[in-house]
Amino acid sequence: MTNKIAVLAGDGIGPEIVAQAVKVLGVLRDEFGLQIELEEAPVGGRAYDVSGQPLPEPTLRLAKEADAVLLGAVGGPQWEALDISLRPEKGLLGLRAELELFSNLRPAILYEQLADASTLKADVVAGLDIMIVRELTGGIYFGQPRGVRTLANGERQGFNTLVYSESEIERIGRSAFEIAMKRDKRVCSVDKANVLECTELWREVMERIAVDYPQVVLSHMYVDNAAMQLVRAPKQFDVMVTTNMFGDILSDCAAMLTGSIGMLPSASLAADAKGMYEPIHGSAPDIAGKGIANPLATILSVAMLLRYTLDEQDLASRIERAVSAVLDQGLRTADIYTDGMKKIGTEDMGEAVVASLISDGG
Ligand code: NAD
Repeated sequence: MTNKIAVLAGDGIGPEIVAQAVKVLGVLRDEFGLQIELEEAPVGGRAYDVSGQPLPEPTLRLAKEADAVLLGAVGGPQWEALDISLRPEKGLLGLRAELELFSNLRPAILYEQLADASTLKADVVAGLDIMIVRELTGGIYFGQPRGVRTLANGERQGFNTLVYSESEIERIGRSAFEIAMKRDKRVCSVDKANVLECTELWREVMERIAVDYPQVVLSHMYVDNAAMQLVRAPKQFDVMVTTNMFGDILSDCAAMLTGSIGMLPSASLAADAKGMYEPIHGSAPDIAGKGIANPLATILSVAMLLRYTLDEQDLASRIERAVSAVLDQGLRTADIYTDGMKKIGTEDMGEAVVASLISDGG
């Protein structure tokens, strides 16, 4: 069966880095027999420029009919003055909502070769490999009622609602347990059950799901402690699962443990394993068009696409090994460069990964 992949390069460095990821997909198709079909479409600021919408109807249609979406990044200063409903970021939010991508996977991996890039001591973070599973379509970011009201005494009051139904908790919980089954089989559920009734229910549902996964060890941690543990001893974690807001904060914290934004991929999954895959960084307008952006986060997003949507575990591992091999060769883009290494540009980094993939056996 041929799988269709929608390629949405977006703005800024998006087209430069996505071009390298597409090269990698091309090698997997031509040399390793991967049956895929790629189709490109505009999204974000460029889409607005050509169609007046950040998420044009044909792009949304393509994303919906594809098995997976590979996205670069959106946004840039030239679109900041637009009405909020037309800004590039709306394209991204629209895709998340329309595709019902409720499970956000944010790995924090630090390759041994880049341990010096972290602000933490190398021995605390070297070899780090955490997967944060963040609920993406519910919780306090979407709960009703919300707003700012004026009280009888004239003072204004802001309010939001933290709300999760059992089914919402269950589907993100199952997503985390399934991922743990492909990893070290440990899930740490992060909540604030001592203060928030909503996350007391969260904890109860996680316990219930755990019965169906006897091989997975479930633990619980309060979010304040989880933040401390992430910077104290991050290697204790395998999979962490948490609410939308806690996950927003913890996943950025975990990403920065690695010190290299250009290296981290992400996935957002729907119930049917369909997913959108993108680097965690933005469109980096400051370096766009210079040919120096790091394409590895986008290439590693392709590895996640193979792992979580196409279930091609071997090909996913091959990409990860190829990335590790180019780092072993001392090849670095400017953002991860250290003395004694060889500084190369976006295109050369893409070529190096392709060469490494091919030499690993076709
Ligand atoms: P950013 O992630 O684009 O850039 C932050 C810094 O990291 C910059 O110095 C940039 O040069 C560097 N950087 C980022 N990716 C890199 C890469 N692959 N290689 C080398 N260096 C890299 O964040 P920002 O500057 O806050 O935002 C820029 C634009 O991107 C804004 O319009 C923002 O709204 C948008 N944005 C989009 C997404 C997304 O599409 N998912 C995410 C975050 C920000």
